[in-house]
Amino acid sequence: MDKNSVVEKYERGIKRVVITAEEIQAAIKEAGKKISDSYDGKPILLVSILKGAFVFMADFCRAITVPCEIGFMCAKSYYEGTVSSGVVKITMDLDKDISNYHVVIVEDIVDTGRTLNDIVKMLKSRNPLSVRVVTLLDKPERRLVDFKPDIALFTIPDYFVIGYGLDCAEMYRNLPYIAEFNQEA
Ligand code: 5GP
Repeated sequence: MDKNSVVEKYERGIKRVVITAEEIQAAIKEAGKKISDSYDGKPILLVSILKGAFVFMADFCRAITVPCEIGFMCAKSYYEGTVSSGVVKITMDLDKDISNYHVVIVEDIVDTGRTLNDIVKMLKSRNPLSVRVVTLLDKPERRLVDFKPDIALFTIPDYFVIGYGLDCAEMYRNLPYIAEFNQEA
């Protein structure tokens, strides 16, 4: 493929902007204040699940105005033969004991809810002081398990989104906004 057709294909993938960069930043400021107010003076560990949440984590942690620590994990879930729960395989784990922390999971999107359901269970088994989930996006229509994030910055209908850390085949993560992906591209 020549350079022009690569760029054309890439641009065709962006159907329309659904959440602008400004809207994202305003919602992050508000959510950061909520977390800062409710955990003030307590030991907080923000935990992000790579890769999708890395952009959100970078902005969200800077909206937290109280002391906090940051950790990253990589996890893959397998749901063979079951729709409601799976096995989470940790491909990169946190590098510390979380028993003295209030854990705040910082996630990009909750879709069926299975991944986070499993991750929350797994982190709770390590006996942290508490576990809460902040997600940038929530698609409740798609839920397959009974899972509700504590804070969802935006609720969206059932369409595939890209940008602001979210990918399609590893592309589009660097878009500063959230867009609907054009499935025909
Ligand atoms: P689930 O909640 O179904 O277990 O999975 C959540 C994961 O599926 C997210 O962390 C994300 O990687 C992926 N995902 C779900 N919906 C979308 C979407 O609309 N766009 C993108 N790029 N990824 C999605």
